[in-house]
Amino acid sequence: MKKVEDYIRSIPDFPEPGIIFRDVTSVLQDAEGLKLSIDEMVKLLDGVDFDVIAGAESRGFIFGMPIAYALGKPFVPVRKAGKLPCETVSQSYDLEYGQATIEIHKDAIKPGQKVVLVDDLIATGGTMEAAAKLVEQLGGEVVKMIFLIELAGLEGRKKLAKYDLASVVSYD
Ligand code: IMP
Repeated sequence: MKKVEDYIRSIPDFPEPGIIFRDVTSVLQDAEGLKLSIDEMVKLLDGVDFDVIAGAESRGFIFGMPIAYALGKPFVPVRKAGKLPCETVSQSYDLEYGQATIEIHKDAIKPGQKVVLVDDLIATGGTMEAAAKLVEQLGGEVVKMIFLIELAGLEGRKKLAKYDLASVVSYD
């Protein structure tokens, strides 16, 4: 039987020389790959007590939504700055070149709620660290972070050491 890693396409030298890009479109465009990837991410939440799933734009939406649906939980989008129509809190973080800002609606998470954060991939952990800060600004508690792919060599796990983090496939 095929495993999730069998569906992940690795593209050398994208978006720049020396980087191996792990492509999840090859997982999603195969019905069995899609099902397996969501099922495996759902398994990472076995025994986890939580109220809400929040996913980071945009591939965190792709994976977070079906997981929320499968587990009967609400889904909260963490969006790029300027997209959400109501009152927001925002958080800026460093990218390799420059900065990015993400936002969440102020009423999306209630104080004391237990939140699971989802993204397709963790590299340096900067995106998830910023997403966690948004949740915490609203009084939520990040009880778990889950990813389809972890680029272990970039040490996101170290940056996010205070969180419980799990991934389906890990690359060195
Ligand atoms: P981080 O903030 O450095 O952990 O980067 C994670 C973000 O960058 C995620 O939202 C990913 O979608 C994206 N990303 C970084 N490297 C890759 C890759 O090799 N494949 C797909 N997405 C990537």
